Amino acid sequence: MKLALIGFGQAGGKIVDKFVQYDQRTGSDIVRAAVAVNTAKADLMGLEEIPKDQRVLIGQSRVKGHGVGADNELGAEVAEEDIDEVQGAIDSIPVHEVDAFLVIAGLGGGTGSGGAPVLAKHLKRIYTEPVYGLGVLPGSDEGGIYTLNAARSFQTFVREVDNLMVFDNDAWRKTGESVSGGYDEINEEIVKRFGILFGAGEIDQGQEVAESVVDSSEIINTLSGGGVSTVGYASEEVEESAGGGGLLSRLTGDAGDDDLDTAHTTNRITSLVRKAALGRLTLPCEIEGSERALLVMAGPPEHLNRKGIERGRKWLEEQTGSMEVRGGDYPVSGSGFVASVILLSGVTNVPRIKELQQVAIEAQDNIDDIQQESQDNLDSLISDDEDELESLF
Ligand code: GDP
Repeated sequence: MKLALIGFGQAGGKIVDKFVQYDQRTGSDIVRAAVAVNTAKADLMGLEEIPKDQRVLIGQSRVKGHGVGADNELGAEVAEEDIDEVQGAIDSIPVHEVDAFLVIAGLGGGTGSGGAPVLAKHLKRIYTEPVYGLGVLPGSDEGGIYTLNAARSFQTFVREVDNLMVFDNDAWRKTGESVSGGYDEINEEIVKRFGILFGAGEIDQGQEVAESVVDSSEIINTLSGGGVSTVGYASEEVEESAGGGGLLSRLTGDAGDDDLDTAHTTNRITSLVRKAALGRLTLPCEIEGSERALLVMAGPPEHLNRKGIERGRKWLEEQTGSMEVRGGDYPVSGSGFVASVILLSGVTNVPRIKELQQVAIEAQDNIDDIQQESQDNLDSLISDDEDELESLF
């Protein structure tokens, strides 16, 4: 499906940049427009792919292009004040050609954390197209203020979008490596998963020999109803034959091998579905209780079959307990691999969010205590003990 991507803040801009690269590299044709919004001029200048006239600097009168630090309340204020400038960039998007907006931001910082929910609210008021969010949670080693920012932004962002897809940096940190060192790889992982998911809805029926191609309405229906989503992924390399059908069976002309091939293809699909659902999700959670799910099997058409997808879909129904599990193909010739992408929408059993909120509340209490203490210390420094001195005015 065709998206208008809007990256808010540094992480948001970088991820949109990566999306554009992915789109060009794979020919997925999902990025209809790419906009970056920031309060920091340097961050906007560091982007590579987003057109210069689609990079919007906000809050110039307040922060002079230097960013809002990690102050997400300021980020939200500045976004509200300068929403017309953001709208100016969106005005140049042919919205009638767009299936949905996707607002992307890191939730731990200031600009994106505060601004993304403000923008989502604005877009929902103006347009009828769905407005989705992609929110990135900070690593637990980033400290209390980032966690507090993320917890508050998460709460607000979910309320303002049609669905909030979440990626948790903490779950993707490699041992011995700081998150920042691995952002490039992490961002690749993000665009791969969401690129396949949204790319699936961009294939026209009949474009390839596919039995049941995922339609963009199926993605929209899975995301409708609001709430929080997570995405699973698993892939396996395959050898592609020049035409359709199993290479071996065509060489030997043996129908028995065809059956074997079919069984193998089916088994591969069902095992990839399990791996994707039970492996690392963008937001780790219990999949049981998910309200809706969508299974996308991507790969060369001869390695996809209806039976495998049907079995995978049934298994997902059992695991999630959901009655609304959709599934289909995303035929991609020449990819050299078969991949399963699973969108779990309306997840509610997410220990990571509960932990984030707990740490955020502790951080908030600490900050209040420290502020009170430093105010007391300052008061006792500037006033004389006996209160004998009077200030000038
Ligand atoms: P902002 O510019 O004030 O919105 O803040 P940033 O986007 O720089 O940072 C917000 C949070 O996003 C950080 O706390 C990190 O957790 C995360 N982050 C920053 N850069 C990246 C990135 O390139 N990729 C990912 N996945 N996360 C990032």
